[in-house]
Amino acid sequence: MKQLEFKGKVALITGASRGIGRAIAIELAKNGATIAINYNSNIKAAKETQKLVNKTGVKSEIFKADVSKEKSVKTLIKQTEKKLGSIDLLITNAGIALLSKNPLKLDFNIWKKTMATNVDGTLLPIKEVLPGMIKRKYGRIVCISSIAGLGMRPNMITYGTSKASVIALVRNLSAAVAPHIRINSVAPGLIETDMIESLDKKVRKTMVETTPLKRIGQPKDIANTVCYLLSDRSNFTTGQTLVTDGGRVSLP
Ligand code: NAP
Repeated sequence: MKQLEFKGKVALITGASRGIGRAIAIELAKNGATIAINYNSNIKAAKETQKLVNKTGVKSEIFKADVSKEKSVKTLIKQTEKKLGSIDLLITNAGIALLSKNPLKLDFNIWKKTMATNVDGTLLPIKEVLPGMIKRKYGRIVCISSIAGLGMRPNMITYGTSKASVIALVRNLSAAVAPHIRINSVAPGLIETDMIESLDKKVRKTMVETTPLKRIGQPKDIANTVCYLLSDRSNFTTGQTLVTDGGRVSLP
Protein backbone atom coordinates (compact mmCIF):
# COMPACT_ATOMS: atom_id res chain seq x y z
CA MET A 1 0.00 0.00 0.00
CA LYS A 2 1.21 3.53 -0.84
CA GLN A 3 2.57 5.39 2.20
CA LEU A 4 0.73 8.73 2.45
CA GLU A 5 3.32 11.49 2.66
CA PHE A 6 1.51 13.76 5.14
CA LYS A 7 -0.32 11.17 7.27
CA GLY A 8 -0.44 12.27 10.91
CA LYS A 9 0.28 15.91 10.02
CA VAL A 10 -2.09 18.82 10.58
CA ALA A 11 -2.12 21.45 7.81
CA LEU A 12 -3.63 24.93 8.02
CA ILE A 13 -4.20 26.65 4.68
CA THR A 14 -5.24 30.30 4.77
CA GLY A 15 -7.64 31.37 2.02
CA ALA A 16 -8.57 27.78 1.25
CA SER A 17 -12.16 28.46 0.22
CA ARG A 18 -11.29 29.06 -3.43
CA GLY A 19 -8.61 28.92 -6.13
CA ILE A 20 -5.06 27.99 -5.24
CA GLY A 21 -5.82 27.50 -1.51
CA ARG A 22 -8.56 25.00 -2.30
CA ALA A 23 -6.23 23.04 -4.62
CA ILE A 24 -3.55 22.94 -1.91
CA ALA A 25 -6.10 21.66 0.64
CA ILE A 26 -7.22 18.88 -1.71
CA GLU A 27 -3.68 17.82 -2.67
CA LEU A 28 -2.56 17.70 0.99
CA ALA A 29 -5.70 15.74 1.90
CA LYS A 30 -5.01 13.23 -0.89
CA ASN A 31 -1.62 12.73 0.74
CA GLY A 32 -3.12 12.07 4.16
CA ALA A 33 -2.95 15.41 6.03
CA THR A 34 -5.66 16.60 8.41
CA ILE A 35 -6.95 19.85 6.93
CA ALA A 36 -7.85 23.22 8.50
CA ILE A 37 -9.67 25.31 5.89
CA ASN A 38 -9.56 29.05 6.53
CA TYR A 39 -11.79 31.53 4.69
CA ASN A 40 -12.73 35.17 5.15
CA SER A 41 -16.23 35.73 3.77
CA ASN A 42 -17.26 32.98 1.34
CA ILE A 43 -18.62 30.20 3.57
CA LYS A 44 -20.35 28.50 0.61
CA ALA A 45 -17.00 28.11 -1.18
CA ALA A 46 -15.33 26.96 2.05
CA LYS A 47 -17.97 24.22 2.43
CA GLU A 48 -17.36 23.13 -1.16
CA THR A 49 -13.62 22.83 -0.39
CA GLN A 50 -14.47 20.75 2.68
CA LYS A 51 -16.71 18.48 0.62
CA LEU A 52 -13.86 17.83 -1.81
CA VAL A 53 -11.34 17.36 1.03
CA ASN A 54 -13.63 14.94 2.87
CA LYS A 55 -13.90 12.73 -0.22
CA THR A 56 -10.30 11.67 0.47
CA GLY A 57 -11.31 10.38 3.91
CA VAL A 58 -9.21 12.74 6.03
CA LYS A 59 -10.47 14.86 8.93
CA SER A 60 -11.12 18.56 8.27
CA GLU A 61 -12.58 21.68 9.86
CA ILE A 62 -13.55 25.11 8.52
CA PHE A 63 -12.41 28.29 10.33
CA LYS A 64 -13.52 31.82 9.49
CA ALA A 65 -10.79 34.42 10.11
CA ASP A 66 -9.49 37.61 8.58
CA VAL A 67 -5.74 37.05 8.22
CA SER A 68 -5.05 40.79 8.29
CA LYS A 69 -6.34 41.07 11.88
CA GLU A 70 -4.13 39.95 14.77
CA LYS A 71 -6.98 38.99 17.09
CA SER A 72 -8.72 37.02 14.36
CA VAL A 73 -5.53 35.09 13.54
CA LYS A 74 -4.84 34.33 17.22
CA THR A 75 -8.34 32.82 17.47
CA LEU A 76 -7.82 30.90 14.20
CA ILE A 77 -4.66 29.21 15.48
CA LYS A 78 -6.17 28.48 18.91
CA GLN A 79 -9.34 26.97 17.41
CA THR A 80 -7.40 24.91 14.88
CA GLU A 81 -5.09 23.43 17.52
CA LYS A 82 -8.00 22.77 19.88
CA LYS A 83 -10.07 20.95 17.24
CA LEU A 84 -7.37 19.26 15.14
CA GLY A 85 -4.13 19.28 17.15
CA SER A 86 -0.79 21.08 16.75
CA ILE A 87 -0.14 22.63 13.35
CA ASP A 88 2.73 20.92 11.52
CA LEU A 89 2.25 22.46 8.08
CA LEU A 90 1.28 26.10 7.53
CA ILE A 91 0.47 27.47 4.11
CA THR A 92 -0.08 31.24 4.00
CA ASN A 93 -2.03 31.61 0.78
CA ALA A 94 -4.79 34.19 1.42
CA GLY A 95 -4.22 37.23 -0.74
CA ILE A 96 -5.78 39.99 -2.78
CA ALA A 97 -4.80 41.79 -5.98
CA LEU A 98 -6.51 45.17 -6.18
CA LEU A 99 -5.65 46.89 -9.43
CA SER A 100 -5.91 50.65 -9.74
CA LYS A 101 -7.00 52.28 -13.03
CA ASN A 102 -4.17 54.77 -12.67
CA PRO A 103 -1.21 52.96 -11.05
CA LEU A 104 0.76 56.18 -10.66
CA LYS A 105 -1.92 57.52 -8.35
CA LEU A 106 -0.40 55.13 -5.77
CA ASP A 107 -3.77 54.90 -4.05
CA PHE A 108 -2.99 54.75 -0.32
CA ASN A 109 -6.22 52.91 0.56
CA ILE A 110 -5.39 50.15 -1.91
CA TRP A 111 -1.84 50.10 -0.53
CA LYS A 112 -3.00 49.71 3.10
CA LYS A 113 -5.56 46.99 2.29
CA THR A 114 -3.05 45.09 0.13
CA MET A 115 -0.26 45.25 2.71
CA ALA A 116 -2.66 44.27 5.51
CA THR A 117 -3.90 41.17 3.68
CA ASN A 118 -0.79 40.05 1.78
CA VAL A 119 2.00 41.02 4.20
CA ASP A 120 0.39 41.16 7.68
CA GLY A 121 -1.70 38.18 6.57
CA THR A 122 1.49 36.21 5.96
CA LEU A 123 3.33 37.33 9.09
CA LEU A 124 0.52 36.89 11.63
CA PRO A 125 -0.21 33.15 11.11
CA ILE A 126 3.55 32.45 11.07
CA LYS A 127 4.02 34.43 14.29
CA GLU A 128 1.27 32.45 16.02
CA VAL A 129 2.39 28.96 14.97
CA LEU A 130 6.13 29.48 15.45
CA PRO A 131 6.38 29.09 19.27
CA GLY A 132 4.68 25.66 19.06
CA MET A 133 6.80 24.57 16.10
CA ILE A 134 10.00 25.65 17.88
CA LYS A 135 8.95 23.77 21.03
CA ARG A 136 8.13 20.61 19.08
CA LYS A 137 11.24 21.00 16.90
CA TYR A 138 9.21 20.50 13.74
CA GLY A 139 7.49 22.77 11.24
CA ARG A 140 7.09 23.29 7.52
CA ILE A 141 5.85 26.63 6.19
CA VAL A 142 5.13 27.65 2.62
CA CYS A 143 4.11 31.22 1.73
CA ILE A 144 2.43 32.03 -1.56
CA SER A 145 4.12 35.04 -3.14
CA SER A 146 3.99 35.89 -6.86
CA ILE A 147 6.24 36.53 -9.83
CA ALA A 148 4.93 40.10 -9.46
CA GLY A 149 7.27 40.30 -6.45
CA LEU A 150 10.25 39.60 -8.70
CA GLY A 151 9.45 41.68 -11.77
CA MET A 152 9.05 45.28 -12.91
CA ARG A 153 5.36 45.66 -13.61
CA PRO A 154 4.07 49.22 -13.91
CA ASN A 155 0.48 48.13 -13.19
CA MET A 156 1.41 46.07 -10.12
CA ILE A 157 3.43 48.47 -7.99
CA THR A 158 1.49 47.87 -4.77
CA TYR A 159 0.75 44.17 -5.28
CA GLY A 160 4.33 43.51 -6.44
CA THR A 161 5.75 45.28 -3.39
CA SER A 162 3.54 43.22 -1.07
CA LYS A 163 4.71 39.98 -2.69
CA ALA A 164 8.38 41.07 -2.67
CA SER A 165 7.91 41.56 1.09
CA VAL A 166 6.66 38.00 1.42
CA ILE A 167 9.73 36.73 -0.44
CA ALA A 168 12.05 38.80 1.82
CA LEU A 169 10.24 37.65 4.97
CA VAL A 170 10.71 34.01 3.98
CA ARG A 171 14.38 34.52 3.15
CA ASN A 172 15.23 36.35 6.39
CA LEU A 173 13.17 34.14 8.65
CA SER A 174 14.52 30.89 7.24
CA ALA A 175 17.95 31.10 8.89
CA ALA A 176 16.45 32.16 12.23
CA VAL A 177 14.09 29.17 12.46
CA ALA A 178 16.52 26.55 11.11
CA PRO A 179 17.37 23.71 11.52
CA HIS A 180 14.06 22.18 12.66
CA ILE A 181 11.70 24.45 10.76
CA ARG A 182 11.86 25.02 7.02
CA ILE A 183 10.13 27.97 5.34
CA ASN A 184 9.92 28.52 1.58
CA SER A 185 7.81 30.46 -0.87
CA VAL A 186 6.09 29.63 -4.14
CA ALA A 187 5.83 32.39 -6.73
CA PRO A 188 3.01 31.55 -9.12
CA GLY A 189 2.64 33.04 -12.57
CA LEU A 190 -0.82 33.55 -14.03
CA ILE A 191 -3.14 30.92 -12.54
CA GLU A 192 -6.74 30.21 -13.53
CA THR A 193 -8.73 31.41 -10.48
CA ASP A 194 -11.32 34.08 -9.57
CA MET A 195 -8.38 36.49 -9.16
CA ILE A 196 -7.81 36.69 -12.91
CA GLU A 197 -11.43 36.49 -14.08
CA SER A 198 -11.44 40.12 -15.24
CA LEU A 199 -8.34 39.59 -17.38
CA ASP A 200 -8.83 40.90 -20.91
CA LYS A 201 -9.18 38.12 -23.54
CA LYS A 202 -6.44 39.62 -25.72
CA VAL A 203 -4.02 39.85 -22.78
CA ARG A 204 -4.82 36.26 -21.88
CA LYS A 205 -4.05 35.11 -25.45
CA THR A 206 -0.76 37.02 -25.47
CA MET A 207 0.17 35.54 -22.09
CA VAL A 208 -0.36 32.00 -23.40
CA GLU A 209 1.61 32.71 -26.56
CA THR A 210 4.55 34.23 -24.67
CA THR A 211 4.68 31.54 -21.99
CA PRO A 212 7.22 28.83 -22.89
CA LEU A 213 4.90 26.07 -21.63
CA LYS A 214 2.03 27.58 -23.71
CA ARG A 215 -0.76 27.68 -21.16
CA ILE A 216 -2.16 29.48 -18.16
CA GLY A 217 -1.40 27.64 -14.92
CA GLN A 218 -3.97 25.65 -12.99
CA PRO A 219 -4.32 25.79 -9.16
CA LYS A 220 -3.10 22.18 -9.04
CA ASP A 221 0.23 23.23 -10.61
CA ILE A 222 0.86 25.42 -7.55
CA ALA A 223 -0.47 22.80 -5.12
CA ASN A 224 2.09 20.31 -6.50
CA THR A 225 4.97 22.73 -5.89
CA VAL A 226 3.66 23.44 -2.38
CA CYS A 227 3.51 19.72 -1.58
CA TYR A 228 7.10 19.30 -2.77
CA LEU A 229 8.29 22.12 -0.47
CA LEU A 230 6.35 20.71 2.50
CA SER A 231 7.59 17.18 1.96
CA ASP A 232 10.84 15.46 2.91
CA ARG A 233 11.79 15.49 -0.77
CA SER A 234 12.91 19.11 -0.27
CA ASN A 235 14.70 18.49 3.04
CA PHE A 236 17.81 20.49 2.07
CA THR A 237 15.85 23.55 0.86
CA THR A 238 14.90 26.56 2.96
CA GLY A 239 14.47 30.31 2.46
CA GLN A 240 13.84 29.85 -1.24
CA THR A 241 11.21 31.07 -3.67
CA LEU A 242 10.24 28.50 -6.24
CA VAL A 243 8.82 30.16 -9.35
CA THR A 244 6.00 28.12 -10.91
CA ASP A 245 4.95 30.05 -14.00
CA GLY A 246 5.42 28.01 -17.13
CA GLY A 247 8.85 29.55 -17.72
CA ARG A 248 7.91 33.25 -17.99
CA VAL A 249 10.17 34.76 -15.31
CA SER A 250 13.34 33.37 -16.80
CA LEU A 251 12.58 35.15 -20.10
CA PRO A 252 14.74 38.19 -20.82
P1 NAP B 1 -8.72 33.82 -5.15
O1 NAP B 1 -9.27 32.77 -6.05
O2 NAP B 1 -9.20 35.21 -5.27
O3 NAP B 1 -8.89 33.31 -3.64
C1 NAP B 1 -8.44 34.12 -2.60
C2 NAP B 1 -8.58 33.37 -1.29
O4 NAP B 1 -8.05 34.21 -0.24
C3 NAP B 1 -10.03 33.10 -0.92
O5 NAP B 1 -10.08 31.86 -0.28
C4 NAP B 1 -10.36 34.23 0.05
O6 NAP B 1 -11.40 33.90 1.00
C5 NAP B 1 -9.04 34.39 0.77
N1 NAP B 1 -8.86 35.68 1.43
C6 NAP B 1 -8.80 36.91 0.86
N2 NAP B 1 -8.64 37.85 1.80
C7 NAP B 1 -8.62 37.19 3.01
C8 NAP B 1 -8.48 37.60 4.36
N3 NAP B 1 -8.35 38.88 4.69
N4 NAP B 1 -8.50 36.64 5.32
C9 NAP B 1 -8.62 35.33 5.01
N5 NAP B 1 -8.76 34.89 3.75
C10 NAP B 1 -8.76 35.80 2.76
O7 NAP B 1 -7.14 33.93 -5.31
P2 NAP B 1 -6.05 32.89 -5.82
O8 NAP B 1 -5.77 33.19 -7.24
O9 NAP B 1 -6.40 31.51 -5.41
O10 NAP B 1 -4.79 33.42 -4.99
C11 NAP B 1 -4.22 32.73 -3.88
C12 NAP B 1 -2.84 33.31 -3.62
O11 NAP B 1 -2.04 33.17 -4.78
C13 NAP B 1 -2.85 34.81 -3.31
O12 NAP B 1 -1.92 35.10 -2.31
C14 NAP B 1 -2.45 35.44 -4.63
O13 NAP B 1 -1.86 36.71 -4.45
C15 NAP B 1 -1.45 34.41 -5.15
N6 NAP B 1 -1.24 34.46 -6.60
C16 NAP B 1 -2.25 34.24 -7.47
C17 NAP B 1 -2.00 34.29 -8.85
C18 NAP B 1 -3.08 34.05 -9.89
O14 NAP B 1 -2.80 34.29 -11.09
N7 NAP B 1 -4.26 33.58 -9.53
C19 NAP B 1 -0.71 34.58 -9.30
C20 NAP B 1 0.30 34.81 -8.37
C21 NAP B 1 0.03 34.73 -7.02
P3 NAP B 1 -12.99 34.13 0.69
O15 NAP B 1 -13.36 33.08 -0.31
O16 NAP B 1 -13.66 33.94 1.99
O17 NAP B 1 -13.11 35.51 0.12
